Amino acid sequence: MAEANNTPYPYEAPVSQGLFDRAAVVTPGGVNSPVRAFRAVGGTPRFMVSGTGPYLTDADGREYVDLVCSWGPMILGHSHPEVIAAVQAAVARGTSFGTPGEGEVALAEEIVDRIAPVEQVRLVSSGTEATMSAIRLARGFTGRAKVIKFAGCYHGHVDALLAAAGSGVATFGLPDTPGVTGAQAGDTIVLPYNDIEAVRAAFAAHPGEIACVITEASPGNMGVVPPRDGFNAGLKAVCQENGALYISDEVMTGFRTSKAGWFGVDGVVPDLMTFGKVMGGGFPAAAFGGRADVMAHLAPAGPVYQAGTLSGNPIATAAGLAQLRLLDDAAYAKVDAVSEQLRGLVTEALTKEGVAHRVQNASNMFSVFFTEDEVRDYDGAKAQESFRFTPFFHSMLAQGVYLPPSAFESWFVSTAHDERAVERIAAALPAAARAAAEATA
Ligand code: PLP
Repeated sequence: MAEANNTPYPYEAPVSQGLFDRAAVVTPGGVNSPVRAFRAVGGTPRFMVSGTGPYLTDADGREYVDLVCSWGPMILGHSHPEVIAAVQAAVARGTSFGTPGEGEVALAEEIVDRIAPVEQVRLVSSGTEATMSAIRLARGFTGRAKVIKFAGCYHGHVDALLAAAGSGVATFGLPDTPGVTGAQAGDTIVLPYNDIEAVRAAFAAHPGEIACVITEASPGNMGVVPPRDGFNAGLKAVCQENGALYISDEVMTGFRTSKAGWFGVDGVVPDLMTFGKVMGGGFPAAAFGGRADVMAHLAPAGPVYQAGTLSGNPIATAAGLAQLRLLDDAAYAKVDAVSEQLRGLVTEALTKEGVAHRVQNASNMFSVFFTEDEVRDYDGAKAQESFRFTPFFHSMLAQGVYLPPSAFESWFVSTAHDERAVERIAAALPAAARAAAEATA
């Protein structure tokens, strides 16, 4: 790859700003997903025009090392030649048929092969659809209405699950969102994360009423806050004792934190699981699956309705399948090693500047909290000195490193993050750490 022609980095991004101004006229807030607007950190969102390996290039022609990776999907880096070739071959055969196709079968087989608890799987187009459908199925299967979720866990913008939902919602400080009615959220019980006693108490308070517990397998939407030892196993046990389903949301962790996602790390067997991000190879493909007797309740096999015009789209399934087939043990070893290296560099830089911090990880997913205390739940995440993140973020951006524009997001790396990319991050960190140290609330 050619040396980037972007040192020193001018801070302004006039072409991106022009595009953002145009976008704001025709799109609310100028973006199609809120966190992209940089509201938490201020400044001009970078409009990206291309991506190669670990790099993104913006409309002003500047190159960044990408630590967002499209919020997780691009685990092989951008424009991986084999994924691109699979997509091109699929496109040449046509873009959508609205009929079954072999690609869907192959992708479903790949998922079932990798994730032992998934006996059957249904493909959808987004993580939101996956969690929404899994909740509907759990309610249909159990004949119960109530759902337990955890504060700080995000499961997409499903009406019933947009309560204390972390991530973008945390960024905007919205306790809830207008447009979700009391009826839609009324059956949702929100509990503190990592607190198994709170779960037991909720089941005791609502006997025979709780359809399911949904949790991020290892949360990444309040920053990275892994489950305490035994927490997921405890959830599974409480659900089993009470005839409820345990739904593990692996949209973020699936096929990322190991070959078999977070299930591959903690081995707790959920009744249902949800997937997205990595399994789509950068295209809109997602899925939910699990126990065959539960999945048998789904239409047309059973009475719980669920459908999608573009579900199992041939291009998305080709991209996802190509990506998954490249994700062998060596690929995960590479991603894990890069993550460990970066965690060490961030720790070193912040320690040197005397900035209180915690770098928390769930295998290769990690994030930085500006606090001395271990973060175990959403309250802990919100208690950090997030005002330090803004200058840290902008210093990194100005030096050509693209971080998630919020203190409540996971950082993502890929197999393409090579020595040169890591060196660029290492070179940027000291000034960013200094900026964080000098920040005032
Ligand atoms: N579940 C989790 C754990 C997620 O992180 C996300 C998205 O970030 C979703 C569900 C929703 O996925 P999507 O944005 O594809 O609708």
